[in-house]
Amino acid sequence: MRDLRSIGAIALILALRRQLMTDGTYWLNLPAQSPDRRENPFPFLALVEHTNYLPPEHFGGDRIVYLGDYVAPDHEYFTMSEDEIADLFLPSLTKVNPNFSPDWVRKRWLFRAPYAQPVPLVNQSQRIPSIQTPIDGLYWASMSQVYPWDRGTNYAVEIGRRAAAMMLETRS
Ligand SMILES: Cc1cc2nc3c(=O)[nH]c(=O)nc-3n(C[C@H](O)[C@H](O)[C@H](O)COP(=O)(O)OP(=O)(O)OC[C@H]3O[C@@H](n4cnc5c(N)ncnc54)[C@H](O)[C@@H]3O)c2cc1C
Repeated sequence: MRDLRSIGAIALILALRRQLMTDGTYWLNLPAQSPDRRENPFPFLALVEHTNYLPPEHFGGDRIVYLGDYVAPDHEYFTMSEDEIADLFLPSLTKVNPNFSPDWVRKRWLFRAPYAQPVPLVNQSQRIPSIQTPIDGLYWASMSQVYPWDRGTNYAVEIGRRAAAMMLETRS
């Protein structure tokens, strides 16, 4: 387990009063040249305007925008306050819409997960922990055991079923 590597994720979700990307862009991938996000033109990796995909009627008229990033679990984004993150992230939105102003934000939510994306290393196939642990009765099914694909909810269901089958087999 100690050999496994992973990175974390952060998502600042905004409910805006107005549309941000007026050309209808849904998902914009952004350049991250430096691990110190403050040096980048955008301090996050992904700008997603969900309501350019699914209309705002489904969200009480709000425009839903997701500012996401993947960073190391010890990155400052995990210790900064929500206000500090918002103060850092929001000014860059004028680069995609010069009219953007923070008073467009009706509400916001910050989500952070230090374990969000396993990072497979060379010979990953030989490092995958077994679902059955050395502790009797303890099973472990996680993103780190999904291989050779990237983690996803479909694989989570599949691995959960495998773990449940193992438990039933041991009981019988
Ligand atoms: C930013 C991001 C974007 C993603 N996008 C996609 C996508 O577009 N499509 C896709 O298919 N997959 C996506 N994934 C991957 C997908 O979310 C995961 O693969 C999946 O959720 C893993 O399921 P899980 O049940 O193993 O873990 P989780 O969904 O993390 O569930 C683990 C649960 O255990 C709870 N828990 C933890 N510790 C304890 C404890 N001690 N006691 C009680 N409860 C505890 C947690 O609160 C959590 O609810 C994304 C993941 C991230 C982070």
